[in-house]
Amino acid sequence: MTVDTALRKDPLPGIDYSFNPYIGCYHGCVFCYTPRLMRMDRNEWGTSVVVKRNAATVVAKEVRKLPRGLVAISTATDPYQFVEGKYRITRHALEVLLRANWPVSVLSRAPLMTRDLDLFTQFEEIEVGMSVPTLDDRARALLEPWAPPIDARLRCLRALADSGLTTFVGFAPAYPPTGRWTPESIAEAFAKAGVKKMFTRALDARWGVPEAIARQLDGSELAEELRRIGDLETIAPFVSRVGEECRARGIDFRNAFEFRLPESNSGFGSPDTGR
Ligand code: SF4
Repeated sequence: MTVDTALRKDPLPGIDYSFNPYIGCYHGCVFCYTPRLMRMDRNEWGTSVVVKRNAATVVAKEVRKLPRGLVAISTATDPYQFVEGKYRITRHALEVLLRANWPVSVLSRAPLMTRDLDLFTQFEEIEVGMSVPTLDDRARALLEPWAPPIDARLRCLRALADSGLTTFVGFAPAYPPTGRWTPESIAEAFAKAGVKKMFTRALDARWGVPEAIARQLDGSELAEELRRIGDLETIAPFVSRVGEECRARGIDFRNAFEFRLPESNSGFGSPDTGR
């Protein structure tokens, strides 16, 4: 498809615009909040992606007219899901933003991101990050079935940091601890990967998320532990401990629980505090 606008004013704190090169996401994370934002059937999420073919050209026009501001890539899709390997919409938009000298913040779950290291390193203002909400790849395989494995994301973070970039991790939505992972070992893994900043938030449990998670976990050996992803009495103290361990290792850890909308998590009967 073609689009008329590409940079969207974004209400998220610290962001001026969002840029989403695709509609939909083949990673198909069970907890994804985008189906709710787009009023889409959650059962269809992850089954198709629409390519915004002219998006970079539109960005080139918009940066001439709009006030300069931080562009978040992306907020409603993964900019490096496998279709980006073919269509290169994210790369072309980055080229435009680089020429215009606009600041960017890039977030993905996919190590294809390292393809664009040559561009990232030329930006004056840039942050690059990976979503890594668990270190347990068995948990990832259940709730982010088509997204790249955790090890690949940690290697990608290391490669980005080794290129001199400031890297961050979205520990969001924070999974409960599973397997051998403890707050100490989680923080140590991120520190080893050269991570400088982290943010976290709790699950947004609206729009059929609890039911979708329950279906996905049915019969799994991790079901009992992972079901607590929506239980703030489990998640809040765990995340606080992860934060302490991260800060002790020099990682700037931000707990965004206070941003959570009061009605979210209602499906799990959790307390109305924090995001
Ligand atoms: S990678 Fe992001 S946008 Fe894609 S399904 Fe997962 S949470 Fe949603």
